[in-house]
Amino acid sequence: MILMTVVIAFTGCHNDTDTPINKRMDEVVILFENDVHGAIDGYPIFAGYRDAVADTFKYVVTVSCGDCISGNLTALYQGQSVIDIMKSVGYDYLVPGNHDFDFSMATFLNLLDETQVQPLCCNFNDRATGLPLFKEYEVKDYGGIKVGYVGVTYPYMETVVSTSTLIDEDGNYIYDFGGGNVAGMLQNAVDAARAEGARTVVLLSHIGDDLLPEVISKTSGIDVVLDAHKHTTEPGSYIKDKDGSDVLWTSTGTQMENIGRVSITKDGKVKSSLIATESVSKRSETVGNVVDRYNQDIERRTKEVIGHSDAYLTENDANGKYIARLEECPIGNFCADAFRAVTGAQIGIVNAGGMRTEIKAGDITYASLLAVFPFQNEVCMIKVSGRSLKNALEMSYAHIDDFGGFYQISGMKVLIDKTAAEGNRVRSVKVDVAGNGTFVDIADNEKYTIGGSSYVLLEGGNGIIFENAERLALKSYLTDDQLLLQYVTETLAGHIPESAGKVEGRITYVE
Ligand SMILES: [Zn+2]
Repeated sequence: MILMTVVIAFTGCHNDTDTPINKRMDEVVILFENDVHGAIDGYPIFAGYRDAVADTFKYVVTVSCGDCISGNLTALYQGQSVIDIMKSVGYDYLVPGNHDFDFSMATFLNLLDETQVQPLCCNFNDRATGLPLFKEYEVKDYGGIKVGYVGVTYPYMETVVSTSTLIDEDGNYIYDFGGGNVAGMLQNAVDAARAEGARTVVLLSHIGDDLLPEVISKTSGIDVVLDAHKHTTEPGSYIKDKDGSDVLWTSTGTQMENIGRVSITKDGKVKSSLIATESVSKRSETVGNVVDRYNQDIERRTKEVIGHSDAYLTENDANGKYIARLEECPIGNFCADAFRAVTGAQIGIVNAGGMRTEIKAGDITYASLLAVFPFQNEVCMIKVSGRSLKNALEMSYAHIDDFGGFYQISGMKVLIDKTAAEGNRVRSVKVDVAGNGTFVDIADNEKYTIGGSSYVLLEGGNGIIFENAERLALKSYLTDDQLLLQYVTETLAGHIPESAGKVEGRITYVE
């Protein structure tokens, strides 16, 4: 009787190795997430659902398809928070995503060591040795159901990772992510997994579904793809491989909106579905405790006083009317100054629609800066010609009414004629080229550097395009909220002077 009790107590745990007689062994259940981006409140639910499934099925596999450690407020811990949480979940496999390198490659590799998860990636080689950093695949036997797991990440990493984390001191790329050869690398890994006896091949992919069909069309032997990167919500759809066979693919969206579920039956059938996390009632207490601890710490750290403002950085005019989308205003100047100072560009630009509130005089907390920039847009710097900059300004100032794409600026002065025809309203543009307070007329063929969000400068935000923009490398990955934090605590040494509360003729109108 005592022995029975002990056995029951042990079999209640999801990861024990003893098999209770009543658990189903005719199916392997793979549960996965992708692009969680620091939405840590989802993990206790993910683990809770996994634990519930593990009550019924003996073979339950837990997988992450990348972009986990950066986003939301994980920068406060350089990703450590997510790693602690993932460790408490207990993952089997992971494929790295581009944003997993946001806090530097060294940080990512150190964090990965801690998780005890098996990373898989067939297109992540050291250029110097030609050797892969991680296992490319792994084959697992689940009581006769042999499954091969292969990992593949975004092959054109150099185009989506803005940090210098991929480059050595001499500016040479350290890693090879495959580029146009990714399908060949993937095929080798799939063939190796098959040769080792895998009957079903599962691809953990951080490729994205815009590129995925092309890559899959050049391969054969893959049964199902758990895809990531594009934040697509796809319960299950088919694409063709090289042999014309159907390959099932699925993706959960982002921020742990859904839990991905793939089942492989004993007779080789593969099915996929998504479970909305809000529909899951079970929350893992173990994982919940870790998340709660972090949430309490985040609460404390965001409310800590980090500086003081002697100025009221308003978005209104003297009569209290909101004007940030129509005229120069102190909060706009402050944000544009931050972009300029922190990136080191000649010009700073912020779109009025991107600033969600103002900053009152008094104590400043990280929470008050986050309220201004709540979307955590990536910061970037570009180099463009005077002509391209002027065209963008024409688009920004073409609207005389309320427009989210109205630019608040730093290091530049514009004179606008509201009565002129649309596209011809910018009368003059002067730039503080040398950064010494001397403004000179913009020249069409000169190049200028601009700091701003990637939404504004690179993604055509508000329908405005900087033609032929060249993206320049920043020292490190940064989001706009962290940019404000850095500006206040480092550039301004915790003190916003009273003068910041005044407008100074950066944007003026022809009378
Ligand atoms: Zn990604």
